[in-house]
Amino acid sequence: MNARFDSIIIGTGQSGPSLAVRLAKAGRKTAIIERKLFGGTCVNTGCIPTKTLIASARVAYLARRATDFGVIVGGPVRADMSRVKARKDEVVRRSNEGVERWLKNTPNLTVYEGHARFESPGTVRVGGELLEADEIFINVGGRAHVPDLPGLNQVAYLTNSTIMDLDTLPEHLVVVGGSYVGLEFAQMYRRLGAAVTVVDMGPRLIAREDEEVSAAIKEILESEGIHVRLDAECITAEPRDGRVAVGLRCEDEPREVEASHLLLAVGRRPNTDDLGLAKANIKTDARGYIEVDDELRTSVPGIWALGDVNGRGAFTHTSYNDYEIVAANLLENAKRRVTDRIQAYALYIDPPLGRAGMTEREVRAAARPALIGRMPMTRVGRARERSETQGFMKVLVDAATEKILGAAILGIEGDEVIHSILDVMYADAPYTVLRRAMHIHPTVSELVPTLLGDMEPLH
Ligand SMILES: Cc1cc2nc3c(=O)[nH]c(=O)nc-3n(C[C@H](O)[C@H](O)[C@H](O)COP(=O)(O)OP(=O)(O)OC[C@H]3O[C@@H](n4cnc5c(N)ncnc54)[C@H](O)[C@@H]3O)c2cc1C
Repeated sequence: MNARFDSIIIGTGQSGPSLAVRLAKAGRKTAIIERKLFGGTCVNTGCIPTKTLIASARVAYLARRATDFGVIVGGPVRADMSRVKARKDEVVRRSNEGVERWLKNTPNLTVYEGHARFESPGTVRVGGELLEADEIFINVGGRAHVPDLPGLNQVAYLTNSTIMDLDTLPEHLVVVGGSYVGLEFAQMYRRLGAAVTVVDMGPRLIAREDEEVSAAIKEILESEGIHVRLDAECITAEPRDGRVAVGLRCEDEPREVEASHLLLAVGRRPNTDDLGLAKANIKTDARGYIEVDDELRTSVPGIWALGDVNGRGAFTHTSYNDYEIVAANLLENAKRRVTDRIQAYALYIDPPLGRAGMTEREVRAAARPALIGRMPMTRVGRARERSETQGFMKVLVDAATEKILGAAILGIEGDEVIHSILDVMYADAPYTVLRRAMHIHPTVSELVPTLLGDMEPLH
């Protein structure tokens, strides 16, 4: 006999667990299914371990700069990778076990451990069991995309998942992919002591950002000794005496770079190829992402898709926001929509990039009259006091409505400071509200009103 539930959640990423607990508490008999690690990517191989490793890398970086601050540390600085990894594992273990405990201790919620696959629109198979429900929520996330590079099948390579097992320092790490994931690993490993080369096919790093952001990030990374190889139109991999030779250029020199380790960071793909979606008639786009409407309903009534798998966001906060939208609409009869949210994210190199709303390029493309304010971090007292003045702040405002269109803060605390701008955008208030705010001294945020007081027309 099939096990019958009111609601089934597939996957324990960043929306599934919260939704499962909320539905169970609301009186729905609920099941949640996880095939691997509770907490999904963010907890086990994404945000949490990377930010924990970045914290170790920052300590190494500051220790090397100690004399700049008049502090003497004895001898050369080096990372003990087994301890760096052990610290990371401990932080991850607590989160992973916390999610598992939370789910297993929630009344009215049954946890299944195994791979879930649709058998029909209302039926899901886990191992030998068939589960049925009127409401099914898909939160299966994604995994690293492994590109079809010539020679890749002959060499050992790492992804964001397998690099988590590394407890030794690569002598030379080549990172293929100069975007969010790749750059975080590049700087982290450089600071931990490895030689690092970033390879990208495009003409600049992190290409969706404005050119000046890409250029400043490249400068920051290069200032720490990271080699950046752009326009690598012929990326190949070849084993060479226990190492890996990564091809860069077809014609011009240098044609390749040789390294001890290769990390692939060239994007993600959704975990939809083994979910039996065809048996449930759930539509996907050409890249395998599940198609959803503005309330995250799939093409099949009674089935929703949340998190990275719906292609409407690729962050923990977008996945969690998906949960909030679905729960509010189901349980509170609200009318929340994905398009109500404002794009926001951070890139966790150091100093970080905090982003909200449109880029300058997007504002220019929209051809709307706009104002722009720019300020280098050298003008920020907090940055000078910390001897960390790299980067700049930039804000764009609609000249007619005075509403903030977007901002980029590349500098210390940029990931936090961006929220004062983001909240004014959510309040739908004119930028003048923030311009007149009194902020606390000495912070980075105190310069945001000053920045907004010095806006010029965008030409
Ligand atoms: C290196 C790295 C760093 C990142 N850093 C950040 C960051 O700093 N900030 C940020 O906001 N985002 C970050 N992200 C992105 C973030 O991790 C994801 O956006 C976030 O985890 C949301 O994922 P999700 O909820 O869609 O599902 P996921 O977290 O991917 O979880 C999906 C779960 O579903 C399970 N599953 C899959 N298929 C099945 C099946 N058929 N049956 C049962 N279970 C299944 C998987 O095992 C997994 O546990 C990072 C990602 C990476 C790779």
